[in-house]
Amino acid sequence: MSPIIKKTLTNFLLFFAPLLISETKDISIVVHGGAGWFSSMTEDEIEGIESALNNAADLGYGIMLEGGSSLDAVEKAIIVLENNPLFNAGKGSVYTSELKQEMDASIMDGSNLDAGAVASITSVKNPITLARYVMENTEHVMFSSTGAEKIAKEAGLETVSPSYFYSEEKLQRVKKKIKADAKMGTVGVVALDAFGNIAAGTSTGGMTNKKPGRIGDSPIIGAGTWAENGVCGVSGTGHGEYFIRLNVAKEICVLMKYQNLEVKKAAQIVIDRLAAMGADGGVIVLDNKGDPAMVFNTPAMARAYKNTPDDTFVRIYKD
Ligand code: ASP
Repeated sequence: MSPIIKKTLTNFLLFFAPLLISETKDISIVVHGGAGWFSSMTEDEIEGIESALNNAADLGYGIMLEGGSSLDAVEKAIIVLENNPLFNAGKGSVYTSELKQEMDASIMDGSNLDAGAVASITSVKNPITLARYVMENTEHVMFSSTGAEKIAKEAGLETVSPSYFYSEEKLQRVKKKIKADAKMGTVGVVALDAFGNIAAGTSTGGMTNKKPGRIGDSPIIGAGTWAENGVCGVSGTGHGEYFIRLNVAKEICVLMKYQNLEVKKAAQIVIDRLAAMGADGGVIVLDNKGDPAMVFNTPAMARAYKNTPDDTFVRIYKD
């Protein structure tokens, strides 16, 4: 082939490839706001949760519709939920047994399996942004507590006084030893962009009344979060110790990758296994075509899914 023809062909491909890709890939986003009971909620709280899920899905979807990446969609959608005290992530996180708020978050880029995570942080306004910073700007994957906070300060990320995260209602759950809904309101997002890139992220205050320093599954890559292009993306919520032991997020993708299982089937198998161990929780998953699974063994999981510009599916309780 003559060099001129070769060059013309390359330019043609470079120009049209993104358009061809966007025709075959379905931009999709799935969001969760925690699995649990969601009992004794006021109408206002239910409405607030639903509209926040809707806003997060809309924002992420809009970013990707304009050609933005699934990573941006995941980070920005999670920030919406971290800033909303109705959820157990960022502002409004649950309290430890010593009445402090310690937050965990992680993010994963399915295009290259890059990942970033932070654990036990107390003064970074948006933990998911720090997780992304760790992924993109350090040679490590995970930082905890003071080391993580130092990176946030050096990077100029927004830090706040711990009182910013305050929630009287969450504080009372520890003081009054409220068991039900002890694990509820963690947030997570999985997105597939027009270029076929899958990203996933999870952010949480962990479990009510957890011991100081306890780290759950949300910042553990493979347990609470996983993304792998061509296969799937997952964000989990529930009893973190079991998610870690079962490697829930990766396990779902492994079933899909090596056994060719369809997304809902793979998610159901792993959640059934979790239930058989006596744990509860749920997952949101997207496959490489943008088909979702939203599977949980609790009475409710706050969730939303969007893959068309006009419509968003939003639910808290079972269908
Ligand atoms: N998985 C979180 C943790 O164990 C809690 C939750 O999802 O509600 O820290």
